[in-house]
Amino acid sequence: MSDATRVLVLNSGSSSVKYQLIDMADGARLASGLVERIGEGQGRIAHEPSTGPERDRYEPFPDHTAALSALADELAADGMGLDSPHLAAIGHRAVHGGTRFTEPTLITDQVVEGLRELVPLAPLHNPANITGIEVARKLRPDLPQVAVFDTAFHATMPEYAARYAIDKATADAHQIRRYGFHGTSHQYVSRRTAELLGKAPEAVNVIVLHLGNGASASAVAGGRCVDTSMGLTPLEGLVMGTRSGDLDPAILLHLHRVGGMSVDEIDALLNRRSGLLGLCGDNDMREIGRRMGEGDPEARLAFDIYIHRLRKYIGAYYAVLGRVDAIVFTAGVGENSAAVREASLAGMDAMGIALDSVRNAVRGSTPRLISADSSRVAVAVVPTDEELEIAQQTFAVVRRTAE
Ligand code: AMP
Repeated sequence: MSDATRVLVLNSGSSSVKYQLIDMADGARLASGLVERIGEGQGRIAHEPSTGPERDRYEPFPDHTAALSALADELAADGMGLDSPHLAAIGHRAVHGGTRFTEPTLITDQVVEGLRELVPLAPLHNPANITGIEVARKLRPDLPQVAVFDTAFHATMPEYAARYAIDKATADAHQIRRYGFHGTSHQYVSRRTAELLGKAPEAVNVIVLHLGNGASASAVAGGRCVDTSMGLTPLEGLVMGTRSGDLDPAILLHLHRVGGMSVDEIDALLNRRSGLLGLCGDNDMREIGRRMGEGDPEARLAFDIYIHRLRKYIGAYYAVLGRVDAIVFTAGVGENSAAVREASLAGMDAMGIALDSVRNAVRGSTPRLISADSSRVAVAVVPTDEELEIAQQTFAVVRRTAE
């Protein structure tokens, strides 16, 4: 293996860039950080090298060029700058790959152009991803850079799971189909679950529940995604922190025709003021748990609606898979909330699903089983690591390209 084994993972949002530098020789996290409030009066960079304490700097970052230069400077100060011979590649998180990008992709001018063509499908996310990619390519034009797509893992969904039952010509004209998101997380977590069971990914069927502020479920058969709860956009599916998830599409028409709301108002309502936040005023499951402890009926109802939707997806994916080897919880809520895990699987003994309440209550940061020994279906908690997955996929592309 050459000395260049490090991958810088960049997750560029419209006003922030998150990053991690990972050494693929041993998976070690060498540095991580966040540049935030890009384009605002005062920005912040928080940089944490593995060798020392976090360093915070407050200064304006007028654009992504300034933000990426700042993170490059911080890395250079630790002797790990973008010109380091150890740096093998930069891996970019890219949100929407459409039907065109279904694999991690070495970035070229044509790829950037292709990403631009996909902006209508992800108008909030893809432009920020493109900006991050362009700035990083200017900083290191000779370095391989790879786009890893949030949608890619779901590209294996069969047509009958990916298509909506609407007029075909209209759907085709507007690229309307279910793409799914959080793909790197579902991929990473389903593979780690197979490892936890001591089996090959091809040998297991898994239901993955990624429950963070955004939330999605997927059915993974033998390592391939066969269904997922998010759709054309991340709005579909589970109840989330601020998103409604599934609803009768005629509600949008009703809000417009009868409620007099504009398209932008409906968009903001469903994406930013719905879900747990809309139901009870809080989107943090910790706060909802605390309020439920005080007997707050609004928090209780929000929790019950959240759980009911989750249980419906578990049942649906159980039927889709036919045989389920494991149900796995991940992301902020899934990894931390024993109450959500317990409520979402309660009373499913007849389906071969039984939690062990003591195991479920134990907190931890490593993959672990929480099912009872009698449970036919294993239940697990597997912390997600999207950055590591992006780094691994990026490194694999670079090595393949070098062969
Ligand atoms: P993520 O999007 O994966 O970072 O998850 C963020 C969400 O995880 C927060 O909004 C909280 O609702 C939830 N969360 C984090 N820690 C806990 C905890 N200890 N208990 C319950 N929920 C938690």
